[in-house]
Amino acid sequence: MRLAPGSTIGIIGGGQLGRMLAIAAAQLGYHCHIYDPHEAPCADLVAASFTRGSFDDADAIARFAAPCDVVTYEFENLPTAPLDALGDKLRPATHSLKVTQDRAAEKRFLDAAGVRIAPWAEVDDEASLSAAIDTLGLPLLLKTRRFGYDGKGQAWVRALDDAIAAWDAVGRRPAVAEKGMHFADEFSVIVGRTSDGATRVWPVSRNIHEGGILRRSEIPPGSTIEAQIAEAVEVTAGLADRLGHVGVMTVEFFACADGPVVNEIAPRVHNSGHWTIEGSMTSQFEQHIRAICGLPLRDTRLVGRTVSMDNLIGDDVDQWDALIAEPGAHVHLYNKGQARPGRKMGHVTRVA
Ligand code: ADP
Ligand code: MG
Repeated sequence: MRLAPGSTIGIIGGGQLGRMLAIAAAQLGYHCHIYDPHEAPCADLVAASFTRGSFDDADAIARFAAPCDVVTYEFENLPTAPLDALGDKLRPATHSLKVTQDRAAEKRFLDAAGVRIAPWAEVDDEASLSAAIDTLGLPLLLKTRRFGYDGKGQAWVRALDDAIAAWDAVGRRPAVAEKGMHFADEFSVIVGRTSDGATRVWPVSRNIHEGGILRRSEIPPGSTIEAQIAEAVEVTAGLADRLGHVGVMTVEFFACADGPVVNEIAPRVHNSGHWTIEGSMTSQFEQHIRAICGLPLRDTRLVGRTVSMDNLIGDDVDQWDALIAEPGAHVHLYNKGQARPGRKMGHVTRVA
């Protein structure tokens, strides 16, 4: 199947990832139809049409999808039952969602794939938390199984006395405990995969987080990460194959002393790949659209020698005036309205 220009792509989720997907799709001559529960999601502002509806409303999702030629999603925390009904029209398929939206299912999948991950345990109550502390040791990080993003739904247990406060902090919801890992750096491998299994990965960036939120991505990533890229790329391509993933997906890694450790999988384009819009021959957004529309994948080479991407988080966006005047700064503003603390409002890419 190769979708002709003029076809309609449904995008479930109307945030900045949906927005940048819609912009890339428009360039290739496609119409995008956004589905989101909010009133004026920022992707709607650049798309051909918009349906407001809840993510668990199976009838509304079926009506939204009917005129679409293909449907994709920009975020993983979606009820999957209404999406199962879309069958082959949904790319990537719900399997990618089911595995990655639940940290316990994701870790079982990663264990079965035989890749290196942080030692972990399921935590459902105080007793299993205390058992996890016994087997994993301290410090450990509690993460809710579902709905976590940008470090939300996480709490550290550094001393025995912190355990109950951490369990309270994650809302006493089903969680996983992970051993606190020592790592020099964090990085991500982003891969595009077609339905017949062709893959392309981008050059790897070093990702710098602050308070669980991505602050900056930079290329080159430095020698510690560079020594681990070959293995991490092989792991990522293998995971994409195991999922039968069609589209772009991302694997986050810790660069640990004994090699790359998988942190988590995002079944989608990723914040650490925003630099690809100006810094690569092909952006992650265009590649995703190509993969789900049955078009050939394109070259992912760097177009410069160094690239950096800085997120504009909360009132960082007030630097707009200076950034817009900076030669060589590619400013992206997501048109999200109010700049709440921790909210991703835009990003700036510099290619040299
Ligand atoms: P999110 O879904 O919010 O991105 P992550 O699991 O990626 O959640 O965690 C966010 C950040 O927290 C990571 O990028 C890393 O900096 C830190 N972190 C996560 N797990 C661990 C761990 N086991 N040990 C040390 N740091 C961790
Ligand atoms: Mg993460």
